[in-house]
Amino acid sequence: MLKDKIKSLAKAYKEEVIANRRHLHANPELSYVEFKTSAFVEEKLKDLGITKIDKKATTGWSALIEGKNPSKKVVALRADMDALPIIEANDVPYKSKNVGVMHACGHDAHTASLLGAAKILNEVKDDFEGTIKLIFQPGEEVVPGGASLMIKDKVLEDPRPAGIIGQHVMPFIDSGKVGFRKGIYMASADEIYVTVKGKGGHGAMPETLIDPVLIASHMIVALQQVVSRAASPKIPSVLSFGRFEALGATNVIPNEVKIQGTFRTLNEEWRAKAHEKMLQIAHGIVEGMGGELDFEIRKGYPFLQNDPELTDRSQQAAIEYLGKENVLDLDIWMAAEDFAYYSQEINGCFYRLGTRNEAKGITSGVHTPTFDIEEDALEIGAGLMAWLAVSELQNS
Ligand SMILES: [Zn+2]
Ligand SMILES: [Zn+2]
Repeated sequence: MLKDKIKSLAKAYKEEVIANRRHLHANPELSYVEFKTSAFVEEKLKDLGITKIDKKATTGWSALIEGKNPSKKVVALRADMDALPIIEANDVPYKSKNVGVMHACGHDAHTASLLGAAKILNEVKDDFEGTIKLIFQPGEEVVPGGASLMIKDKVLEDPRPAGIIGQHVMPFIDSGKVGFRKGIYMASADEIYVTVKGKGGHGAMPETLIDPVLIASHMIVALQQVVSRAASPKIPSVLSFGRFEALGATNVIPNEVKIQGTFRTLNEEWRAKAHEKMLQIAHGIVEGMGGELDFEIRKGYPFLQNDPELTDRSQQAAIEYLGKENVLDLDIWMAAEDFAYYSQEINGCFYRLGTRNEAKGITSGVHTPTFDIEEDALEIGAGLMAWLAVSELQNS
């Protein structure tokens, strides 16, 4: 059976997948400058004898593995390759050698897993019909999102995949398990950059000043009404401000305050309305108090919707591969993911690979300096991806 063949290959290649992941982990690169990572992926694909390789979006790759009757159906598998500006705090042999840059979102695991899946699929290509398109993309972590650039560079054309499957590590799910969610899964995310200008001066003479610290404070409190009053309770929304920069002193009122935040939700219509509402409230408060406002909303990724049918079939295939007890139903997740761009174009399924191992202390969340993965999960990361692809090809 093909499933058993894939399983035994995943086992056989596990150490190689781990070694590749460690290499990538030790040599992380920031979004859109993944040049060495890109060269590494190219070399590995060429080592496999995969010749239909296309460079996309400067550092990305699209590669084809053709089975029998290659034009019958095309399914895409996607991995992202970029790391984050974080100083790694783990004391591990594969610790980042590029200080200040860290694979703290598991994209090293995604890339290594997809290379492993490629090796498996290439070896069983006489056992399936259709074509598998491998997508290695840059820049998932930074707007505009490598996915959008890959799409602009025609990664979803010639041949056009019927569906796309992506995986992401999940430190809250035990290694050995995976999770799926049909329909709406992840949020849209917009970045907010605000400058509130007033008139600074001596803190002892407020009557001669326009205090931007007080104005900005009122504005932040008032903006929470967007979530608590303007949003429908049926649509999840988050408005968080993580940066408030008022560079005065005990007795110095600064001229301006700079603020940064994020707005996330799960409905495109409401998202647009919320943007208007934020501007209205912020201008009202700031100008009403005599200040000046610059309020910029930089639109980030759209919300991520998993195609119900593709996701259902993938979840069933995962159950066949891992057993029912190892395949979980996921809740909505308010983080954003540029995979959403693919799933706006074609049917998408974005699922989670459990990488937690509490006994070993591997529990840190993504985007933290102590994030790591249980590497045993990579056997599933590579094998299950290969199995999901061929299962989907078999469904015509
Ligand atoms: Zn991330
Ligand atoms: Zn990520």
